[in-house]
Amino acid sequence: MSSPKVFVLSSVAGGGKSTLIQLIRQKHPEIAFSISCTTRERRQGETEGLSYYFLSKEEFEEGIKSGRFLEWARVHDHYYGTPFKFVEDCLSSGKSVIMDLDVQGAASLRQKLGEKAVSIFILPPNEKEWENRLRGRGTDSEEEIQKRIRNGKAELARKEEFDFILVNDTLEKALSKLESILFQI
Ligand code: ADP
Ligand code: 5GP
Repeated sequence: MSSPKVFVLSSVAGGGKSTLIQLIRQKHPEIAFSISCTTRERRQGETEGLSYYFLSKEEFEEGIKSGRFLEWARVHDHYYGTPFKFVEDCLSSGKSVIMDLDVQGAASLRQKLGEKAVSIFILPPNEKEWENRLRGRGTDSEEEIQKRIRNGKAELARKEEFDFILVNDTLEKALSKLESILFQI
């Protein structure tokens, strides 16, 4: 890889970005993963400081005021934000970073980082499979799922803003397409 980059993956909820990032983290530890802060509830299987830093609303709002976040957004009624210092430290030591952001966060990073940011929208192969995967994950209530599908339609409408659109058909193919983006830039 040439100069260090910030790879931003976005998708609708259930599009597969966490799964793909998990595979990249296992296979390519030379790419750093930016752990976001959030005010949402911890899901089963998630670990503080590995999946997210789980903050209270007050802690998050304090972080906004003190400039802790490179970008932040409200998604599905919760705050999410990228700690500034980690990304800055990685880039200044020549390390690329991968992160999982919503479409607002991706737009904000493109604006802040210019060519250093490479944005990738992960697209489920079709609407039926998208809903199946979202339900099959078993992490969200039906009400949450309906909200994520409604919000997802607005997110899908912004996919053309991204540098790359990657269809997540089989995991094997999607991983290989993602690797070709990460290592050819
Ligand atoms: P996101 O992080 O974008 O919300 P996840 O990575 O949690 O999405 O994926 C949603 C669900 O779909 C998970 O249960 C995951 O195991 C499954 N999944 C992801 N990619 C694929 C794929 N290519 N084929 C089948 N299932 C997949
Ligand atoms: P989830 O609650 O499913 O983990 O994530 C919900 C949404 O928040 C996803 O679209 C995810 O990409 C986004 N997200 C996670 N971390 C951040 C962040 O630091 N900033 C922004 N803007 N979005 C984030």
